[in-house]
Amino acid sequence: MSEHKGIIAVISGPSGVGKSTICRKIAGKLNAYLSVSVTTRPKSDLEEDGKDYWFLTRDEFQKQIEDGNLLEYADVFDNLYGTPKDKTDEALKAGKTVILEIDVQGGKQVKRIYPDTTMIFILPPTHEELSQRLDGRGRDKAEAAGKRLGCAGTEIAAAWQDYENMVINDKLEQAVDEILEIIKNKIGE
Ligand code: 5GP
Repeated sequence: MSEHKGIIAVISGPSGVGKSTICRKIAGKLNAYLSVSVTTRPKSDLEEDGKDYWFLTRDEFQKQIEDGNLLEYADVFDNLYGTPKDKTDEALKAGKTVILEIDVQGGKQVKRIYPDTTMIFILPPTHEELSQRLDGRGRDKAEAAGKRLGCAGTEIAAAWQDYENMVINDKLEQAVDEILEIIKNKIGE
């Protein structure tokens, strides 16, 4: 039983908090596997299929569920998002750290399957700052951005139950360092 298994780190947080930037930096520094999710959300002009997400139709997504290809999935802001299982399993078997940038519903499912998962939730320094970041990224229409901001409180409340690590993203590099520390401690256990 000496086979070295990788660990999973779930990183969640409200829309606009800076998760994607943080996850890319962390994955680069740890040479970790950063999972690419499947989603039914329409692709924005700033995104690339296969890099940011695999963009699927509802039928294609449904087929992924039926074929048992997803580790977890959830309905977030009226679109479906899920984590492909095969690549995650492969990375874990190879002893790699797996980073999942997913919402709190998905995080809960992963924790149930892999109780040893490191759960990290990223908080904005203030509600105003989050609102400005959502406006500033120019990806969402005003209505969609408002919906995302409105959900932030619910997500934060849910996170208090399932996430043992809360990190404030005030200064990006500081947040990255804090998260690296949390994951390295877990790897070293
Ligand atoms: P966005 O549309 O802003 O890229 O993502 C919306 C929300 O969906 C974010 O909270 C993001 O973390 C979450 N999300 C992205 N991929 C997945 C996934 O594979 N599973 C789950 N449960 N949530 C995801």
